[in-house]
Amino acid sequence: MKSIKTNTILSKHKYKNMWFNIDYIMNLYRGCCHGCIYCDARSDCYQITDFDQVTVKENAISILEKELKATRNKGIIGIGSMSDTYNPFEKNQTITRQALLLLARYGFGVSLVTKSDLIVRDIDVLKEIQKHAPIICKLTITTIDDTLSKKIEPNVCCSSNRFNALEKLTSEGIFSGIMLMPILPYITDNEQQIISLIRRAHECGARFIYPAFGMTLRANQRDYYYEQLDRIFPNLKEKYVQQYGDAYNCQAENSKKLYHIFVSECQKTGLLFQMKDIIAAYMQHTPQQLKLF
Ligand code: SF4
Repeated sequence: MKSIKTNTILSKHKYKNMWFNIDYIMNLYRGCCHGCIYCDARSDCYQITDFDQVTVKENAISILEKELKATRNKGIIGIGSMSDTYNPFEKNQTITRQALLLLARYGFGVSLVTKSDLIVRDIDVLKEIQKHAPIICKLTITTIDDTLSKKIEPNVCCSSNRFNALEKLTSEGIFSGIMLMPILPYITDNEQQIISLIRRAHECGARFIYPAFGMTLRANQRDYYYEQLDRIFPNLKEKYVQQYGDAYNCQAENSKKLYHIFVSECQKTGLLFQMKDIIAAYMQHTPQQLKLF
């Protein structure tokens, strides 16, 4: 793992109401070694060289503390875009844990997204934050099939471990759910597996599932994805090329049907799936909601 120094940690989030009510974004690491074959963050437009190599921002905690002290408007801090803050190095580095402790101390809420079950290590801190501010934890789970998840997300724990992590979080009263994205055309766009995934999420106490019925493909991301398809799913690349060409937005062919099935199953189980409902529910979830929010 490399390390760098940074000048800033927090940046303002532009799409607050469209994306989990997040006020500020924070990345404690750069790059990700989870190896998801579809990862959008390796696209050329983000200009992250050596994306698979994790780099820690070694002075992140001292910079974060200064910025939290100086930020007059408390709010929700989003962690985990463009990298997974619970990468394997976090186990010893504990940068994410230290950052969460600061959020607890300075009265900020948090929106976390991860594929790693390491998140359960920090349940004690998350509960501390939740005493005074909203929290939402999102486990990204793209398939219920462990064998398939190991193929498409090779370096992080398999789906069943993520469901177990979800169950631990919800059993401790932490507002949590699933990011069901991306749904990969011809790979995970399967009706029965989506129904099973929703039912398992419900069993685990999830409050929501937020889906995307397709994927995006951009320069560099597309090349990497196609290389991996050739390796894992022979002849599938040709189907993508024929169906999507150079398109950015690649919806699953059966996305309308899948969406109807998804909505119907969520309604049966009581899982939230619309952004405005998820935001409203988690902002109200805090037992002692502060006027700050
Ligand atoms: S966990 Fe997220 S950032 Fe890391 S490789 Fe997978 S999709 Fe990319």
